[in-house]
Amino acid sequence: MKIAVVGAGVVGISSAHELSLGGHEVTVFERRSTVAEEASFASGALIAPGWAAGWGLAGRQLGWPWSSHSDGLHLARLPTGSEWRWLWQWRQLRRGPQWAASQGQVQGLMRYSQQRLEAITDQYQFDHDRSHGMLVLLRTEQEVAHAQAPLQQLRDQGLPAQLITAAEARGLETALSSETPLQGAIELGGEAVANCREFAVLLRARALQAGCRFEFNTVVGRIDALAPTGFRLELAHTASRPPNEAASASARTFDAVVVCAGVASAGLLRQLGLNLPLQSVQGHSLSAAVREPMDAPQSAVLDAHQGVSIARLGQRVRVAGGHDWGRRTGTPSKAALQRLYKVLSDWFPGAVRLGGPAGNVQAWCGAQAELPDGLPLIGASRIPGLWLNLGHGACGWSMACGSARALADQVDGRPSDIDLTPFSPRRHGI
Ligand SMILES: Cc1cc2nc3c(=O)[nH]c(=O)nc-3n(C[C@H](O)[C@H](O)[C@H](O)COP(=O)(O)OP(=O)(O)OC[C@H]3O[C@@H](n4cnc5c(N)ncnc54)[C@H](O)[C@@H]3O)c2cc1C
Repeated sequence: MKIAVVGAGVVGISSAHELSLGGHEVTVFERRSTVAEEASFASGALIAPGWAAGWGLAGRQLGWPWSSHSDGLHLARLPTGSEWRWLWQWRQLRRGPQWAASQGQVQGLMRYSQQRLEAITDQYQFDHDRSHGMLVLLRTEQEVAHAQAPLQQLRDQGLPAQLITAAEARGLETALSSETPLQGAIELGGEAVANCREFAVLLRARALQAGCRFEFNTVVGRIDALAPTGFRLELAHTASRPPNEAASASARTFDAVVVCAGVASAGLLRQLGLNLPLQSVQGHSLSAAVREPMDAPQSAVLDAHQGVSIARLGQRVRVAGGHDWGRRTGTPSKAALQRLYKVLSDWFPGAVRLGGPAGNVQAWCGAQAELPDGLPLIGASRIPGLWLNLGHGACGWSMACGSARALADQVDGRPSDIDLTPFSPRRHGI
C-alpha cells in the first residue's frame, strides 16, 4: 500500500519504520526541517514501565501554577466553554473506578514498547544514551503509604518494582543529597532511560534504508477522503522561502494515512468530521553538562511529590516535569523552570554546570497531546484507511515503539502482540 504518515516525532518515525518493514511504500510528511523537533525534542527520557504510575499524592488534582505540589495538572489560565468539560472529565476519570484498570493497560503497552525498543536497538546496534534502573523518591511516610497501591499493581503485572529503604536508595544513587529528607523509594528495574531524540534520528536512517521517504518542511494542510477509497493530501512546502512569501502548494494521493501529528492532530481530523477531545499540556525540561560525575545521577530518579525526573544522558543531566494546561506553546514558564532547578538542587546539588563559559543550560518546553482519559489513540478510525497513533500525553516516548509495532500489525490485518482495544479511537466515536 501507498501510505502517508503525518508527523516525524518519535511516534511518526517509529510508525513509518514498522510500516516500511512490512513492505509498504511509506512517505512521511513533516512541517519541521528534521525529526523530533516538537514534543519528542528534549523529553525526560524515561521509559521504565511504571515510571508514571501515579506515585504522587496530588497526581489526580487540578491546581494553579503557584500550588505547592506539581504532579497534578496546573491551569495556567481560566478555562472557557468546552475546556471546562475536558478538565472535569480529566479529573473525574482519574478518581473513578476505571482509573486503576486503565493504568494497568498503559503499563502493559509501556512494557511491550520497552521490549520493542530494546529489540530495535540490539538489531541495529544503535548507540544512544541509555541506562538501567530508576528510583521513585518518596519524601514522607504518607508518600510511602500512597505508593503501595501502584506498587502492587506493577507487581501484579510481573513488572520489576520493589520498595526499598532510604539507605538502600542512597546506596544505589550515591550522589543523592543527604540534606533532603527521604523515607524510601520504589526501585524500578530494567531499561529505564533512553534518549528519545537520538533514537528518532538513528531510526530515521534505518527507515530510509527500508525504503521510507521523508518530506520535511512540508505542512499537510488538509486530508480529504476519496470515493470509493484513498486520500488526497493538500501539501504546502515551506523550505528555503522568505518568510513573507507564500509556501508552494501541491496535492498527492495515498491508499492510507496514519496521523501522528501530536497536538496538531485534532485540527487535521476536524476537517474530516472527527472531533477529538485532545488538549495541549506543556511540559518543561532542562539539560546541562555534568560538572562532576560523582555528583550526578547514575541513571534516573523521579521526585514523587514534585513529579520531576532527573536522568543521566551520557555527559548531560536532563531534568523534566510539569503538566501545565492553558499555556501558550513555545514559551517556557519561569515558575516551571524554577521548580526544575529547585528539585535538581534538592537531590543532586552541584551535579551540573549552571553558570560560566561551560554552563550552557538548555531550557525547553514542549506540548504533549493529551486525551481526558489518559490513554492514547492507536488504530483504525471510523474512516476506512485512516489510522491514528497519537495522544500519548506525558508518556509518548515510553509507548512509541510498541504503539508503532501494534499499529503496523493492524494495518496488515495481523493480530498484534498486545490488545489494542483499550486504545481504540472508537471509544471517542472517532
Ligand atoms: C518536557 C517533557 C518531558 C517528557 N518526558 C517524557 C518521558 O520521560 N517519557 C515519556 O515516555 N514521554 C515523555 N514526554 C512525552 C513525549 O515526549 C511525547 O508523548 C512524545 O514525544 C510524543 O511524540 P509524537 O511523535 O506523538 O509527537 P511530536 O513529537 O510532537 O510529533 C508530532 C510531529 O508532527 C508534526 N506535524 C504536526 N502537524 C503537522 C502537519 N499538519 N503537517 C506536517 N507535520 C505536522 C510536528 O511538527 C511534529 O514533529 C515528555 C514530554 C515533554 C514535553
